[in-house]
Amino acid sequence: MIVRLMMCAVLLTSGAAVAGEPQCTYSTYKWNVRDRKSVGHIKVVKPMSELTAAEKDSATGCTVCEEDQVTLTFDGLRPIKVCRQIAPRVKKIIEALQRKHAPLQDLVAYRVGMTRGDVDQAGNRTGFSNHSFGVALDVNTDQNGLYENCVTVNPSCRLIKGGKWDPKQEFSLSKDSVIVLEFKQNGFRWGGEIAGQQKDFMHFSPTGY
Ligand SMILES: [Zn+2]
Repeated sequence: MIVRLMMCAVLLTSGAAVAGEPQCTYSTYKWNVRDRKSVGHIKVVKPMSELTAAEKDSATGCTVCEEDQVTLTFDGLRPIKVCRQIAPRVKKIIEALQRKHAPLQDLVAYRVGMTRGDVDQAGNRTGFSNHSFGVALDVNTDQNGLYENCVTVNPSCRLIKGGKWDPKQEFSLSKDSVIVLEFKQNGFRWGGEIAGQQKDFMHFSPTGY
């Protein structure tokens, strides 16, 4: 009888601890490479302690959780959410660019989705993008598209997201533009200079991917 009462107490204590544990909340989707559309939209709520390796960015410690993001606001731009760890650096970059009157039209940062990595049998991507962790930013999407079939920039590159990139346009980025230089000076790489099949002219992250 005494043993049974003690066990009961232990279970209650453990149950109370779980209820008070920090939670992780996020909404995600998968990119289907065959149909070229997002599928499988779900909302996830789970204890932080149960995050998998795939739900964390090992380079920064940032996670897919809303709870790890902070909102940054800038004059004339929509607010963005970025990972707490890199928020001071992003704030410094954007404020410096605004002081220099750089052509910033639009920013997007935190957005959770499986748009990278291996493709499963259904044609869905299985890896989280760097936007999923709040460590990547897209700048001026409408003039800085994402291209595939684009190892080097040439007319056969195929636009798959965003607007046409043309470095003669005011809001398009190039390797000499003030926006690219400011990000690179602060530890970001530009998706317009990454190796591989894609050129992502709107995109900045610590790895460039
Ligand atoms: Zn991006």
